[in-house]
Amino acid sequence: MARRAKPDQTLEAARKCLVCDWTGRLEELADTPEIGVPCPECHAPTERLAVLREWRPPANPHAAALGHLGGLKGGPARAAALTPKRRREIARAGARARWKRR
Ligand SMILES: [Zn+2]
Repeated sequence: MARRAKPDQTLEAARKCLVCDWTGRLEELADTPEIGVPCPECHAPTERLAVLREWRPPANPHAAALGHLGGLKGGPARAAALTPKRRREIARAGARARWKRR
């Protein structure tokens, strides 16, 4: 049942322009051609160098809500299992990753 690359699967891809030297990250659908998305600078095609992340936008909020009956438990349980030092490292890495994208 777990089909990969469904049309609504989303990627964060590292892309490089074929003409100018622009490189960057773009969000795109999984069926986007490897070469094709226009460069934001010169509008020439870009080439996908790597897939950094992929996820599927939640298709059914009701199903997600059902899964959360009784409360979200992953986060607090994980936080309790970690040492404060490790927790800080994870938080720092998360913040750094968020800011790098801007
Ligand atoms: Zn370009």
